[in-house]
Amino acid sequence: MQPLEFEPILKRIRWGSRRLGSVLGKPIGDETDYAESWEIADHGEDQSRVCDGHPWAGRTLNDLVESENEALFGRHAGRKQFPLLIKYLDACDHLSVQVHPDDQLARQFDPAENGKTEAWVIIDAEPGSRLYAGLKEGVDETTLRDALESGDCENCLHSFEVAPGDCLFIPAGTVHAIGAGILLAEVQQSSDLTFRLYDWGRVGADGKSREIHVEESIRCTDFTSGPVNPVVPETVKNDEVTTEQLVDCPFFVMHRHTTDQSFVLSHEDRFQVLMGLSGEAELDFGNGTIAMSAGKTALIPAAFQGKLLIRLEGETTILSAFLPDMI
Ligand SMILES: [Zn+2]
Repeated sequence: MQPLEFEPILKRIRWGSRRLGSVLGKPIGDETDYAESWEIADHGEDQSRVCDGHPWAGRTLNDLVESENEALFGRHAGRKQFPLLIKYLDACDHLSVQVHPDDQLARQFDPAENGKTEAWVIIDAEPGSRLYAGLKEGVDETTLRDALESGDCENCLHSFEVAPGDCLFIPAGTVHAIGAGILLAEVQQSSDLTFRLYDWGRVGADGKSREIHVEESIRCTDFTSGPVNPVVPETVKNDEVTTEQLVDCPFFVMHRHTTDQSFVLSHEDRFQVLMGLSGEAELDFGNGTIAMSAGKTALIPAAFQGKLLIRLEGETTILSAFLPDMI
């Protein structure tokens, strides 16, 4: 039951750019609008496929969820869908201001969908790049509606400049936008349900503005949660490897390992997603290796039994995402 690599699913959207290729090594073409690389996805038609060289090569993630459930999930066996959607995202323009429903609301819009709580870790940010996360203190539904009407929604949003390494935790119901110049890694619930609250007054090449979903957005917005600031990581282990806990929520846990020397990664009876954030590294799992440099992603099935040696060249940062015990 060896670690898995998947073919990236590249998404071209008009706010994309070229850093998925130039910085993260994705196989992009000549176009200038590569926006997202879906690294691990089991969402409808979007199905990650296992790369060549693995006994499960060519199989989709949902196929593995169906037929290798116990091996994949271990203590979390019985799931019908891979619960996390793992992406790298490159924004050269502002994304729309948006909000995602929680599980309960999501199912009212689409019974097959999940809510979307998400978390980002910034890999690269051009100077002055901003994130928009949460409503400013005191913004209620009336204030927001008035601002939307007068076109100054931006005034209602909490925002700040970001730097590489910053982590943002965005629970479902949080109004948010990723600003221009940001390249990030994203871990989220497997969902593609997004409501657009505001699109910065932009019109497309056809002279029309994109569809806005004010009522749905407002229905999904948690007006009690207020501004969201970068996570203050909790260091959980600090010897040759610094391990920080970035997120511990009911949907996923995120740890960040930073070190300049090779180390052995612990592994329990649950799946673990690894994402390279910076540096040059390789995962050696005994009878094979997977590149673990910036932009690479691997999935360790719960049933993997061997030793996970991360071999490095220089300072390296690796993100690990997994499910919490209590779900
Ligand atoms: Zn979002």
